[in-house]
Amino acid sequence: MSKIKCNRYFSFLVKKILIRLLPYVVPVLIVTALFFFVIYLLFVLPKFIIESVNAEDGGKVSGSISIFSTGKRDDWQLSDDQRLYDEYINLYQGWLDQFTSQEALYNSKIENQKGEDIDNNAKVGDVWARFYDQDSGIPSERVQAKSHGVNWGLMAAVDRILGDPLITGLMARNPNPQGHFDKLKPQLHWENFELYYRYSWSESSSNGEGVIEKSRTYRHTIPLLVKVESYEVKNISYDWKRTKYYYKDSKRNIIEEAYYPVLVGTKQEGPYFEKLRQLLMENQLPKNSDLELILNLAMNYDEDFKYFASYLSGNITELFADTENDEYFNFKHNELYRWPLEDYHEITSAYGWRVHPILRDMIFHKGIDIACPKGTPILSAWSGKVLLAGWISGYGKMIMINHGKYKTVYGHLDKIRVKIGQEIDQGQNIGNAGSTGLSSGDHLHFEIRSGQGETIYLDPMSLDKDKGGD
Ligand SMILES: [Zn+2]
Repeated sequence: MSKIKCNRYFSFLVKKILIRLLPYVVPVLIVTALFFFVIYLLFVLPKFIIESVNAEDGGKVSGSISIFSTGKRDDWQLSDDQRLYDEYINLYQGWLDQFTSQEALYNSKIENQKGEDIDNNAKVGDVWARFYDQDSGIPSERVQAKSHGVNWGLMAAVDRILGDPLITGLMARNPNPQGHFDKLKPQLHWENFELYYRYSWSESSSNGEGVIEKSRTYRHTIPLLVKVESYEVKNISYDWKRTKYYYKDSKRNIIEEAYYPVLVGTKQEGPYFEKLRQLLMENQLPKNSDLELILNLAMNYDEDFKYFASYLSGNITELFADTENDEYFNFKHNELYRWPLEDYHEITSAYGWRVHPILRDMIFHKGIDIACPKGTPILSAWSGKVLLAGWISGYGKMIMINHGKYKTVYGHLDKIRVKIGQEIDQGQNIGNAGSTGLSSGDHLHFEIRSGQGETIYLDPMSLDKDKGGD
């Protein structure tokens, strides 16, 4: 009895509530529909448009980027962005095509030969290619120039900002790929190096009474890049390599000798993005924030540029942080530095040149890597003032301290215990070791820098320590 009563009361209550709610149902439905419609218009539809346009064009613009197009129907279409992208690529390719290709170098005839039995058909590739690594080969001009071209993402970012109606004062978007390319293209400095090869043998004379010495000597001059001024200044150095082989065939003793240049290292230094800075100044955009905006935009457009920029200087932030000021230059401190850890730990990577595992290029290790477990307290090398403290892409969580005459960098930290601008005592715990950023395991990346208005990377192991490092 009471169950039925209860059910009846319940359904009566539900009915009453429904009747009270009825007037609100329609407006609520309308608002909900509008909400989803707006979401669709803002986020879903532009994505469809971009994807479909890219699919039609063969998806050449990677990752559905748009340079000027905002996705809405105006006089600038996504196909215009595609055209612009193609132009950037063509400009780069045209610039690259002026240099001798690998094929042309290998097929070119040897300039100058001395000795007997001259082989007039010998080609550069036949003679020298085997002395070089299989992957690198004798580098043609084009191979050397290739990595120094102007990145398309940077071109897009420059056009996007400098070609914006707000900047130009014109009514329409006004990109200028050729003009900007001419301003940003690298200056390459070449030097001639001579490849040398000598093939000599002795054979018995036709009457069998004596031995005749014979030889062929080949020389060929190739241009090698010694200095590049692009995003930074890069100095490239070579060493001479000499190889000598002795061997015998059925009737002859043969000696092969070659003398040729090999790459030993590249040294890069600032000022970084000087050409870009110059271009922005000419367009009345002198502030660091303008440069920063363009670089960030370029990194957004092209993943490659993002990787490249972080490899170049740690991070854009580091370019703009006042890391070369003189404020603390006369700051009084102990001449001896304190080892950044409580105890000595193994150095897993020394200061100096090493082969970059990904780029397969010689890069400069600006400091030392000290193996230590996660959480190990990190101590300040001298007293000073914190210049940078935060996530700097390649370095992960990092701290840079200005000590006046020196600056120190502590990278891949797990924890940061200081703030920018904070005054630090020598030996103070500033953070804890970890493996953040581009790091393969727990360690401290430690740098000591000096220089006034420039940055000189020092080998921490070559400087005198106060304590902890013995
Ligand atoms: Zn390191």
